[in-house]
Amino acid sequence: MNKSSPLSQIYLDANATTPVLPQAAEAALNSMKVLFGNPSSSHVTGLKAKDLMETTRQNARKVIGAETGQLIFTSGATEGIQTAIISALVEAKKHIEPNKQYSLLYGATEHKAVPESLKHWNDILGIHAELKAIPVDTFGNLDTQFIADEAPNALMICTMAVNNETGVYQDLAALEQVIRNANSQIFWMVDCVQALGKTALNLSDTSIDYAPFSGHKLYAPKGIGFIYIRQSAPFTSIIAGGGQESGLRSGTENLPGMAAINVIFEMLLDTKTSAFADITTLRGYQSQLMATLTSVFPDVVFNHSVENSVPTTINFAIEGFSSKEIMDLFDAANIRVSSGSACSSKVTRSFVLDAMGLPAWQSESAIRMSFGPAMTQAQVDEACQRIQSAAKALTHSCMILDSSEINTSQPLNGLVQLRSGSNCTWVYADQQSKQAFIIDPLPDLNDRLDTLLQCQQLELVAIIDTHGHADHQSGRGFIADKYLASQQADALGWPTQSQASINSHVSGYHTVMIEGQLLQYINIGQQWLVKVPTPGHTDDSMSLLLCQPFTEISEIAQQCQFAFCGDTILMGSLGRTNFESSSASDMHTSLKLLHRLIGSNTLICASHDYNNEFTTHLSAECMRNPLLRDTLNGQLDIEEFEVLKAELDSHLCDQAGSEIMCGALTDSQLSGLPVVEYNQLSLHAAMASEEISLIDIREPHEYALQPPQDSSENVPLTRLVQFIQQQQHKKHHKWVLACRSGTRSYLAAQAMQRLGFDNVAHLKGGYALTS
Ligand code: PLP
Repeated sequence: MNKSSPLSQIYLDANATTPVLPQAAEAALNSMKVLFGNPSSSHVTGLKAKDLMETTRQNARKVIGAETGQLIFTSGATEGIQTAIISALVEAKKHIEPNKQYSLLYGATEHKAVPESLKHWNDILGIHAELKAIPVDTFGNLDTQFIADEAPNALMICTMAVNNETGVYQDLAALEQVIRNANSQIFWMVDCVQALGKTALNLSDTSIDYAPFSGHKLYAPKGIGFIYIRQSAPFTSIIAGGGQESGLRSGTENLPGMAAINVIFEMLLDTKTSAFADITTLRGYQSQLMATLTSVFPDVVFNHSVENSVPTTINFAIEGFSSKEIMDLFDAANIRVSSGSACSSKVTRSFVLDAMGLPAWQSESAIRMSFGPAMTQAQVDEACQRIQSAAKALTHSCMILDSSEINTSQPLNGLVQLRSGSNCTWVYADQQSKQAFIIDPLPDLNDRLDTLLQCQQLELVAIIDTHGHADHQSGRGFIADKYLASQQADALGWPTQSQASINSHVSGYHTVMIEGQLLQYINIGQQWLVKVPTPGHTDDSMSLLLCQPFTEISEIAQQCQFAFCGDTILMGSLGRTNFESSSASDMHTSLKLLHRLIGSNTLICASHDYNNEFTTHLSAECMRNPLLRDTLNGQLDIEEFEVLKAELDSHLCDQAGSEIMCGALTDSQLSGLPVVEYNQLSLHAAMASEEISLIDIREPHEYALQPPQDSSENVPLTRLVQFIQQQQHKKHHKWVLACRSGTRSYLAAQAMQRLGFDNVAHLKGGYALTS
């Protein structure tokens, strides 16, 4: 392959699928146009097709070292897996003894197609065996003692040659000994999908009964695969019909797929003239990529050892970055990688890395880079260069620190929302004074906060928790020790010394007397961060209001931009009041106090965002939260509020994933209104005919790596709340939001719409569909 141009993609996701090599595509095309016969036809066209099919089969046998046994073409590996499992279980069922408990064994890191198919056919065939996952160690190696103990009572064992997420390979010869010593009759399937072209296979020298393969993982098209079946292994046809494939798998054969995969087989067999790199070369590519990652991301960790994995897979995590952030970054640099993880509800993590017992953050932040033997040195060089550029872009947006290059080119001004899962940390920077404060710091974000403060050269004046969080630790200690060692503060970080009593270099609080009440505040540039005790969710809960200076209570609503209310008012909910230190009656009083102080459009910045809503205000909440509305309207007295609140809290699900839900969601529908959608064409047309502001809500590093061709303004999603605040006076203006895939722009547009922006739309499918 030729050296790639800067704009072309570097595809490093071969374990998901590969492009079809031009030679293979050409062969497929030829078989559609010229060699298009039906192999079952007895005329010349059919005979030629049959010859191609049998040549392909012979080549497949050579590639996998299977002189004996059956080799059947399938649609892919998932079909091969079904074939193996049904064949084994149908036979096993015949010999089941009543009242005996059997098991079905599979490796804990197996592709989901394996345990799901085992479960499915175990149910359908009424076998009622127990499914047991074979544990793996931290290197991903199967627990052979477990196999030795369990195999005697197992009907089938399914293992894999090479893992798709980590590239870890199993020692099949050693495994065979353990399995056969424990149970010589057990049916053994080895998923060989990721081994093809990456390790040598000699299947008929083994006692493996079934081995499925897939073409699209090695430069053939989707829809072609094959399965090896040992001579003595039982077989049940899963597709009956015209008797093709010697009656083993009916249906007219996929000749174009066979023609293409045959080209791949020829390349694998002819190592001298083949376009495929040898293992040593591939290992060199792997080392080069790993060295580049290590040099630009000092906090990178590799999730597997290179010693027991194929050279074409690199699974890594970068401390402090989610896999989504790295995916977005690499995509902007035009490098395609995968998150190497399965998405379960809200938490994205890798069950493979979990099974290997790696720390949770490594599993949650896993990134997989994978390539095939057609990789070239030029592509590796280009990939390394782009990784370097990507890291540089992160440095420029203050996500990683390069002490030789402290950033001042993109000064931060205003509010930033950082998240870890559905928990939020808020950072406010006042560019003029270079002062900053942090609310509800999360420990996972310590490094990021530290980097941001250093990189932006900000003076931290306070780091405060709105309350003692029940569901997570505060990250305050680390940052406070580093930046505010001389400040005296209470347990939540509010300064305990009045500014009047200390030297001016240490921030203390000021006071202002409003309607006979002494309010404490700290200065941030020209503004005040005012402390308002709002007990209820917990007895120590407080709200922090960021306001222009005021002299009367009636001015606060006008002067107040943001209200950091912790868990008192959450999006679509109120903080739970069924903790020991909670009080629903106190919450009633606190809500009424907040209502008196802040405006109906003051943005409320909560410490959780369970539904990706970013922020809210009282007017939006009152529309969907009847309990809040009736409380603020004075329709509910304290006793009535207590009863209704207790009822609401009783529906609270205590655990949502690993998180305690801190607020009870109200009955209101949280899904929001549909958002107007544009595609590239309709957006162009609309922009030509009406006044539209296009907002690119990708993060600054993505924007820098891949500037859009249109005239958009960059408002990163982490600064959306600041943007909403600034544009409150332009609620009828036409805003169109855009991002990489359309997910972030949709969420942001929905949030703006909910807050009264009535002319917001987004670019469906994002820039991904326009480039
Ligand atoms: N097994 C492994 C290890 C895989 O990586 C895959 C594909 O992701 C499969 C099975 C399923 O293969 P196919 O897409 O051909 O059905």
